[in-house]
Amino acid sequence: MCYAIPGKVLELRGKKAVIDYFGESKTAVNELVNLAPGDYVYAQGGYVIQKINPKEAGDILETWKDMFFELQEMDKNFSRLSFDSSLDQKLRVILDKACDEKKLKDEELLYLLSLNDSKERETFFKAANFLRQKYHSNSCCVHGIIEISNFCKRGCYYCGISSHNKNLERYRMSKAEILEAVKQAYDLGFKSLVLQSGEDSGYNIEELADIIKTIKEKYPLLIFISFGEIGEDGLKKLYTAGARGLLMRFETSNPKLYQELHPGFELANRIEEIRKAFELGYLIITGSLIGLPGQTDKDILNDIRLADELHAEMMSFGPFLAHPDSKLSGIKAPSEDKIFNVMALARIEAAKETKILVTTAFETLSKTAREKGLVSGASSLMLNVTPIKYRKLYSLYPNRAHQEESVEDQIKDAVSLLKNLGRAPTDLSVR
Ligand code: SAH
Repeated sequence: MCYAIPGKVLELRGKKAVIDYFGESKTAVNELVNLAPGDYVYAQGGYVIQKINPKEAGDILETWKDMFFELQEMDKNFSRLSFDSSLDQKLRVILDKACDEKKLKDEELLYLLSLNDSKERETFFKAANFLRQKYHSNSCCVHGIIEISNFCKRGCYYCGISSHNKNLERYRMSKAEILEAVKQAYDLGFKSLVLQSGEDSGYNIEELADIIKTIKEKYPLLIFISFGEIGEDGLKKLYTAGARGLLMRFETSNPKLYQELHPGFELANRIEEIRKAFELGYLIITGSLIGLPGQTDKDILNDIRLADELHAEMMSFGPFLAHPDSKLSGIKAPSEDKIFNVMALARIEAAKETKILVTTAFETLSKTAREKGLVSGASSLMLNVTPIKYRKLYSLYPNRAHQEESVEDQIKDAVSLLKNLGRAPTDLSVR
């Protein structure tokens, strides 16, 4: 998904292509040889991923044309901003500043993060939604994720698939199974996929590179990797194989808290790996866990800042949900209100191009995560395209949302929600 809308190449400027979408031009990195002005392409996450024939492009554009503008109009109307005259003056000043795209001070950001009055929070979310619409129009990026293995050699205290968990049945998908799942996702319209696993030494880097290379030979997909820390050499090899994105959370920006949750590991190394990946050309999805024991609001604000500093093209902040077979079993989940506040704050504080994800963990915590998240700053969803028989075993936390839903049903639900909100399941924020 992320049903890319075909765009027409207007001009090539070195490695960049200037692409027209219904009169609006965007630029994307082009790695296809033989691309010329006048060609029709799909672009995703800032990369041209496929050239398509003009007839096919014309047909798709024809069906999209009216709907594209109708949805945009609808979203624009929903995102109009008006502050109630009874609104607290302090909050009004802060939100006015945010909507004028002025930098907020730490104390102002922390004030927003701690809001708990429902009317005030509603206005805060409206401001975040206003900025989301301003920066991203009505596009909502929808990636697919395939969890290829739940083996993990690390012992992260919060995680249900960590090596501590001896009660979990482990699986590792074969190359054929992965290709089958990729084919299903591609046939259903996905344009970008995340391949994720625990840190599984059962695959070596050459095997992962071979899988990615085969996928790229068969399908024009934007591939994100999420296999944990694989080192600079591993990142280089998988980039050469065709991966162009990295999903890796730093988990918390607080080094002391990181150390407590990952004994023997350093936050600095994880951050360095994300920086290296960016330098190599990877698109970065990163973020943290919210609600970790001992985490403060200042830590959360620093998490948003760190994700921004790491050039996150998408930020992923989700609740920590204790797994009964993890070292942190029994710890209470954060409130859903807190997560909405974090997402809205991320929208206000992050760079314009950054997308904010509604995470599956948040969907597990809150029935309204998607619907409300998408109008509180978020502009991205991730659907689970792991074969159903394995989904339950990828048990990061209990009762994950969408464990039993077919990919087709997940797409149907997501598309219908997006249409009701005036959003298009496209990724038009090509840079
Ligand atoms: N090995 C990969 C993938 C790890 S699992 C990597 O290191 O990036 C994916 C994410 O699940 C983790 O980054 C973590 O933030 C999240 N996660 C793990 N346990 C969780 C829990 N109990 N509650 C919520 N999210 C959790």
